[in-house]
Amino acid sequence: MHRSARQVRVVAFLVAGAVALSMAWPAWRSLSPPGRFPVDLDVRTQAEVIRGAALEAVTGLWFLMVGAALGSFLNVVVYRMPRRESVIWRPSYCPRCHSQIRLSDNLPMWGWVRLRGRCRDCWLPISMRYPLVELAFGLMFFVLAQVELLSGGTNLPMRVPHRHRGALYVLWDPDWPLIGIFGFHSLMLFLLMGWALMAWDRQRPPWYYVAFAIAVGSLLPLAGLFLHPLPGVDPDRLIWPKLAPSAALLATSVLGLAAGGLLGAIASVASSSTGSREPRAAEPRDPGTVGAAVALGGFLGWQAALCTALFATIYQCLARFVGMGLASAPGGFMDSLRRTPWATALAPAAFFLLLDWRVLFLAGLMPYDRFSYMPLALLAMFVALCLVARRLGRTPPEPGAPLPPNDPSQGPAGDHESNLPLGNSGAEEVVPHDAPAGEVSNFDSTGQPRQEFD
Ligand SMILES: [Zn+2]
Repeated sequence: MHRSARQVRVVAFLVAGAVALSMAWPAWRSLSPPGRFPVDLDVRTQAEVIRGAALEAVTGLWFLMVGAALGSFLNVVVYRMPRRESVIWRPSYCPRCHSQIRLSDNLPMWGWVRLRGRCRDCWLPISMRYPLVELAFGLMFFVLAQVELLSGGTNLPMRVPHRHRGALYVLWDPDWPLIGIFGFHSLMLFLLMGWALMAWDRQRPPWYYVAFAIAVGSLLPLAGLFLHPLPGVDPDRLIWPKLAPSAALLATSVLGLAAGGLLGAIASVASSSTGSREPRAAEPRDPGTVGAAVALGGFLGWQAALCTALFATIYQCLARFVGMGLASAPGGFMDSLRRTPWATALAPAAFFLLLDWRVLFLAGLMPYDRFSYMPLALLAMFVALCLVARRLGRTPPEPGAPLPPNDPSQGPAGDHESNLPLGNSGAEEVVPHDAPAGEVSNFDSTGQPRQEFD
């Protein structure tokens, strides 16, 4: 009975999707009669204009939903990767009762809303983080599609924007290099978001996650010349002109990786809390800092990596400042914000850079064909802000606030505050689960039941 009702709902969902697509198809077919398109699209009837707008809306919704589905997969990756579980071969399950998640409950965002934030089987609360991550990645995917893909690449430096804009033109007159760049950057954002969430959990991705990100970021551009819009060196100034294009590509990748390693090392050293006066000085360094920075350099090249690292440190300082002002006691979301890891700030910084890459390039922040003091100035700002972030992260919430008693059975003091999700602290947490993966919310690192669901 219930099973058949669910199957009916799934079929209805698929049929609705097919109907929406079939409505979109005549829209762009009617807009593109042979011989007219794409010459004079300015001459359109009212109906064609409306149908074109409908097509843009359907396309935008599609990007939002695909992004949310990717965000759902991101939740799975972030939960399972540090635990060395397969992200592919095991269907979504509830980590508390281990019951499998039904397909109709696994729809991004909607599944959580429909179940009102609880597991269908064991009735324990599901962290609100899961729908929020899905929404965030859906919005990022949507905005990047609008700014990079559907705009014809107007956000990219050193690249003539495609002559057409809009979903219609992407379908009709595809700019394949631009589609490749969009996929490349989406993959980068996905991987950096994974790093961001794992670092927030004080977790470290497995080595193959890091190796995959670095290899893809630095090797794919060697095969596809277009994936690095901004070269790391000026091809015209290389010594062997015949080899110049490929040598410039190789140099772009190598310089990007090296710059990422340097920036990550600086951020990592700055965030190490040796010498801290805090009782929780044993807290580990920000996990994932160097790996994420190296991958970033491979994906974007050294100039963009430098700017992104600087933005990330600015975001980190802001987050730590806000957290410092609002955290009343150790534990809880604001205290986690006060200790925001650098790798967590890196994903929004990379997103910001992608949106404004051309503007930043035109402003002279990313020289490639001449010597400039700008990179040195940016590097100096980066180091200075890293020290500010370190100082902010070391300030206790309130000088006189009593720390919670450390349970000797929980090992070193650092472990108690380390925000590990799901049972690693030994405490019996009552905060499990989500549809795709499931884990303890970070918004509540104390291991207490989440009050709002009780
Ligand atoms: Zn359950």
